[in-house]
Amino acid sequence: MNPAANDFIAREARFGTYNYEPIGVVLSRGQGVWVWDTQGNRYLDCLSAYSAVNQGHCHPKILAAMVEQAGRLTLTSRAFHNDQLAPFYEEIAELTGSHKVLPMNSGAEAVESAIKSVRKWGYEVKGVPDGQAEIIVCADNFHGRTLGIVGFSTDPVARDHFGPFAPGFKIIPFGDARALEQAITPNTVAFLVEPIQGEAGVIIPPSGYFAKVRELCTAHEVMLILDEIQTGLGRTGKLLAEQHDGIEADVTLLGKALSGGFYPVSAVLSNNEVLGTLKPGQHGSTFGGNPLACAVARAALRVLVEEGMIENAALQGARFFDGLRSIRANTIREVRGRGLMLAVELHPEAGGARRYCQALQGRGILAKDTHGHTIRIAPPLVITGDQVNWALEQIRTTLTQDFS
Ligand SMILES: *Cc1c(COP(=O)(O)O)cnc(C)c1O
Repeated sequence: MNPAANDFIAREARFGTYNYEPIGVVLSRGQGVWVWDTQGNRYLDCLSAYSAVNQGHCHPKILAAMVEQAGRLTLTSRAFHNDQLAPFYEEIAELTGSHKVLPMNSGAEAVESAIKSVRKWGYEVKGVPDGQAEIIVCADNFHGRTLGIVGFSTDPVARDHFGPFAPGFKIIPFGDARALEQAITPNTVAFLVEPIQGEAGVIIPPSGYFAKVRELCTAHEVMLILDEIQTGLGRTGKLLAEQHDGIEADVTLLGKALSGGFYPVSAVLSNNEVLGTLKPGQHGSTFGGNPLACAVARAALRVLVEEGMIENAALQGARFFDGLRSIRANTIREVRGRGLMLAVELHPEAGGARRYCQALQGRGILAKDTHGHTIRIAPPLVITGDQVNWALEQIRTTLTQDFS
């Protein structure tokens, strides 16, 4: 590590809350799939800010939209209308086939907003007795960091010593439709689930799971909330991951790449029945739906579609997956993935994913370890075939390396 980077890292540690443990690199510039550190070293970004920069770093068209809008009007609050909100609603509704949109900022806020909305729907439409609404969630979920959300996390690191927590959540295993069926009661208002569990290490449910989930939710009048904050917007090779299963959620949550990484923008997408229960004053956000956010999100959605990034994610994702599968290294336990949402799980004897991520850094690739033994690989969706081949070469060399 160079002295300049050490200096930034030491200064961060002095005043900053120690709630992250980053890889030891200090970045100062990004373009497309590449980022540069303060010393000018270039890296292929294989995290994409947890899939917030699907469109690639500093996409010129999103940048132009942001700069243009920032010089015109940034924030009005929702006390007044603004001329970016209506076109944002129209464009995202048309793209995703939704009827109602609720704009928020962070992903966690979108999750919280969905929880509020489906509870209200449960009381006012389904007829659940007040205060009795139940929401079913999955073990090993990741839906964000607010109190409401960590209250139904099963990760002790995320949850311990933050209670007391809100009641009304039931936890079942992921990928188990029978468990869902058994957990549903007349008071169940929603099932909140990720199409692929990203933070848990890119866990893909058995095929047929979501078709069965859809069937059960419809049969029992339970709103299916798909948290597509990470899987959505092209990451898995489709606009929404639900398309792989041929189903439609009742409520879809988007965030992260909705702004291409320029700005926090999230949204709850639903039908009239659920979001229609919210009336003036019952929910809101000072920044939600602001003109700068809307202009940025409109550009971020436009380039995703117009520049063929979703198709490219499918194409390069398959190439990357096949390449990872072909690596013969006794460190590798399993390769998982869909589109450009990939993970390499290492054998416990390999000594942890962290040191492989550090070794990859030395070869010009930034990737993040998760849950000790898994390396997550999720480059921007603009990656080319040559860049995938180059990345595979570095990964192959690193994973066949002997550390002992
Ligand atoms: C990142 C993420 C969130 C939370 O988004 P924030 O913007 O960090 O609040 C929620 N759900 C999923 C699946 C995520 O990956």
